[in-house]
Amino acid sequence: MPMDSWFRLAVLHLAEQERVKSMFRKYGMRMGVQRFVAAESLEGVLKKVKELNGQGLAVTLDYLGESVEDPALADEAANQIMEMLREIHDQQLDAHVSVKLSQLGCGIDPAVSTKHMERIVAAAKYYRNFIRIDMEDSTLTESTLELFEKLVKRFGAKHVGTVLQAYLYRSPDDLIRLEQYAANVRIVKGAYKEAAAVAFPSKIDVDSQYVALVKAHLDGGHYTAIATHDQRIIEKVTAYVEEHRIPRNQFEFQMLFGIATQLQLQLVKRGYRVRIYTPFGKQWYPYFTRRIAERPANLVFVLKGLLRR
Ligand SMILES: Cc1cc2nc3c(=O)[nH]c(=O)nc-3n(C[C@H](O)[C@H](O)[C@H](O)COP(=O)(O)OP(=O)(O)OC[C@H]3O[C@@H](n4cnc5c(N)ncnc54)[C@H](O)[C@@H]3O)c2cc1C
Repeated sequence: MPMDSWFRLAVLHLAEQERVKSMFRKYGMRMGVQRFVAAESLEGVLKKVKELNGQGLAVTLDYLGESVEDPALADEAANQIMEMLREIHDQQLDAHVSVKLSQLGCGIDPAVSTKHMERIVAAAKYYRNFIRIDMEDSTLTESTLELFEKLVKRFGAKHVGTVLQAYLYRSPDDLIRLEQYAANVRIVKGAYKEAAAVAFPSKIDVDSQYVALVKAHLDGGHYTAIATHDQRIIEKVTAYVEEHRIPRNQFEFQMLFGIATQLQLQLVKRGYRVRIYTPFGKQWYPYFTRRIAERPANLVFVLKGLLRR
């Protein structure tokens, strides 16, 4: 297995260990969490959204939380997301919302997350906004796509979209499946610990499937969110859209808060639409560890923060 894949899987495995979790809970903020997490409160993150909008960047807000096992926490997350939609509307922000089904209780009972999602997407439609269903680990791929299909039939592709992960072998078939709904799809490489039975272990294969998925969705004439910080892929995509005269309102680039900030602004300057995935809240641990796993250099600043304590 290539070094980069080995590193990513090793960090994700380590992050599941109780001793590591408790150390992060104690020293998290000093270890650099605030580089990736915009704020702990809704009020705090809305200020950040205004700043980002002021720089020409659109936002997708993410209320942190996943793998919820208590129905009260799923209710709380759903209520918070409803409030986010209200605030975005009232403050006229250029933002929509990303949601994880495991945050809304799909692990308790899929009926729980379905009920919450129906309420949330109905509110998004009322406010003329949009909900993106994030894609989690491969045990949830099928149920996420099934719920997406149910929602898109009822509320339309203007109000709900989802995500496909380039590392999964199944994604080209899933893309074809989503074309019938003219779905708004975010394409990502994939951030979870997956077995070689379901996902490419090699980065070269992931990158090449990534570009193929983006091109296929653009060629189909459907809205494509190209979510990556990979400069080589971004340049390939910009060359492709120019060459094939794909209108700029048929796609956007997306990046994560705190990552490749110069590149975000350069793309805005070049006239492309760029949206920043902006997480907030107190349940930052799994999100943060995935960001560390993506880049060996990130572990260095975490360790430096730890040594300063
Ligand atoms: C907007 C958005 C939404 C996402 N939603 C999902 C989702 O729903 N499901 C899912 O599985 N994954 C999601 N991801 C994560 C994605 O799967 C990748 O894990 C992540 O984007 C890193 O891959 P990359 O495309 O940037 O390419 P890589 O090849 O990993 O990185 C390319 C370059 O980007 C920079 N970079 C990448 N990651 C980091 C980092 N953590 N810290 C600092 N620099 C970094 C480095 O310079 C690196 O060389 C999302 C990513 C984005 C941008």
